[in-house]
Parts: sequence; structure tokens; C-alpha cells
Amino acid sequence: MDAAITFPQSLVQARGHNFCAGPGVLPLPVIEAIRDELPALPGVGASVFEISHRSDAYTEIAASARARLQRLLGLGDEWLVLFLQGGASMQFHQVPLNFLAPGQSADYVVTGVWAEKALKEARLLGEARIAASGEASGYRALPSAESWEVDPEAAYLHMTSNNTIYGTEYRTDPSVPVPIVSDASSDFLSRPIDLDPYGLIYAGAQKNIGPAGVVVVLVRDEFLQTRRAGLPTLLDYGTHAARLFHTPPVFAVYVVEKVLGWLEEEGGLAGIAERNERKAGRLYDRLDASGFYHPFAEKASRSLMNVTFRLATEELEERFASEAEASGLLALAGHRSAGGLRASLYNALPEEAVSALVAFMDDFEARYG
Ligand code: PMP
Repeated sequence: MDAAITFPQSLVQARGHNFCAGPGVLPLPVIEAIRDELPALPGVGASVFEISHRSDAYTEIAASARARLQRLLGLGDEWLVLFLQGGASMQFHQVPLNFLAPGQSADYVVTGVWAEKALKEARLLGEARIAASGEASGYRALPSAESWEVDPEAAYLHMTSNNTIYGTEYRTDPSVPVPIVSDASSDFLSRPIDLDPYGLIYAGAQKNIGPAGVVVVLVRDEFLQTRRAGLPTLLDYGTHAARLFHTPPVFAVYVVEKVLGWLEEEGGLAGIAERNERKAGRLYDRLDASGFYHPFAEKASRSLMNVTFRLATEELEERFASEAEASGLLALAGHRSAGGLRASLYNALPEEAVSALVAFMDDFEARYG
């Protein structure tokens, strides 16, 4: 057997700057490490695709991923870390299934399509109130946490910390009288957070921390204990908190573990937050510098992860996205439901990518402005 699959240098060079909203860019050193270990994990004699989920090798990978998350976020023993499947969309259902008992209601902050979907699933199962909504602004603006009308009896309050489609983000942690459940799919581990207000945080890995196929769920034990009895086994968070019940997405967890290692090397959440602020700051400055580009989100609600903007016509937007693609700036078209343009600046996107995009924007404006 050959020792390693060789990955031609030309392929590495052929990587564009990837602004995809998800699955999105991963750190190149992680991809290279995966390449090196692909035929056989060191000391194991089989690839990561071919090992039992009950093997020592996987047990160590999962334990290391948990330990890295604990260190990065400062999670105490009261937090459980689960690696689940079904995408963030499954969490829209699993959260109310576990925590919204008959006779109770839950509060939802509706700030975009993903939040609407979460609310819809909750209403299939029980009573869910809208504590605040950004719909009247066309989801350009976030209702400030101070304006949320929170029912102090609510089982929980569900929010979406970053709205991937519209490019809006709550960049501080709100404080409300009930546990917060946060869909952090598109800004997970992009900045240090204050864990106090949260009962549960979930994130599909495929934006900031890994490939598709795993959802990271952080749940506070005290909140977990408020779940209903008699839940379907696989959909009961308690099942996964207690044991490895069934085959987890081994490969996805393996990649997540490596991305978390990269994050630690990059200075942890404080280090990555500083870089994320710099990247988004440069792009917003460029957008604000002329009337040619029209930023979509209101200033106070702007996301550091997904920067959304429009041009004068849809035709010009299409031209922008296709010319950018031809220049190696990938996936800049907006979400199909919102149109426009969107640059996703996830943790792994290097600063040079933003420089390249800004240079392209200068040139595009010079030619079409
Ligand atoms: N929530 C947010 C904030 C998202 O951006 C997405 C996907 N783009 C989802 C939920 C749904 O994730 P999944 O496709 O993993 O179900």
C-alpha cells in the first residue's frame, strides 16, 4: 500500500477564495492533515471511514473534540456536549419536543427564515409566542434584546444569533428571565460568549466548524433536566447525554476535532474574534465608501459572518457574481430566497480573501459604476 495519497500542488493552488454560506471554507492546514491521515489513522491501521464508533480511536477523537470545546468556550461541568445528526433543522423540532410541555409556552425571536422555520416546528407541537420580530424591516434590522417582550413563564426563549440569509447578527449575549436556546449555526465559535443566559446552544457544523453531517449541541444539565418524559429515544437529548446510543457521524466529528485544534492554535475565540472584526470591518468600509454598493443590513444589526449587499439591478448582481467566480472569488450570490450578493467570512476565510474581494469590487465599480 502506498504510504500517502499525493495531492498535487496545482490543486492546492487551484483553491479559490471561498465565500460560500455553507457548507463553507475550512482551514487549509486541516484539509492537508486530513489528506495525510486519509489512508490510515496514525497507529490504527485503518482510515477514519473504517473504524468502529466504539473503538479507542473514535473514543479519543470525540473526547478530544469535547475537551477542545470546553477549553475554547470555558464550559464548566454543568455543560454537556453532544454530537447529533439531522442538521440544525432537526433541532427546530427536537428543542420543542423536549422542552415544550403541554400547558407551557415558549418564546421565539423571529429574525429571518431560519427563525420562522424554528417557530413553525414549535407550533406543530405546542404553544409558541413571538417575543419580537424583525419582519417589518424586511429582516434588515434586529429587534434589540431590550425590546423583546419575554414571558417570564416561558419554557425557554429561542433566538437565532446570526441570520445567515440576511446578514444580521446579535453580537452580544442577551439576558432574559428564562433560559435561552440559541441557533448559533452560522456564528458558532466566532467570538467569546457569556454562557450564563443560555440553556442550550446548537450549531450545524458546516459553516464555521466542520463539514455537513454533525450538529454540535451544548446543553446545560439543569435545563436538560426540565425535558419531558417518554420522549422517542433518539430524539431525547438525555439519551445522548448518557451514552453513545448509536453510530455518530464519525468522519464529521473527526474533522470538527481538527478544526477546533486549529482554532486553539489561532489564539482561541479572542484571537479569531479580532480577525473576524478586521475582515468584516474592511468589507463594510468598502461597501460604505461609495453609493455603488448597497449594504442590506442596517448598521447596528450587521453580521461579521455574512455580509449582504445589493447592486442597482439584478443583472449587475449576476454579472458581479459570475465575474467574481471567474476570478476565483467563489459563491458570492445571495441566498435564493433573498437575492442580492453575500460574502460569508467564516473563521477559516483568510484575510487575503477579503483583500482580493475588495480589489475586485474596486475594479468592478470602475468598470460598471
Ligand atoms: N439555522 C441557520 C442559522 C442556518 O443558516 C441554517 C442553514 N443554512 C439552518 C439553521 C439549517 O441548517 P441545516 O441545513 O443543517 O438543517
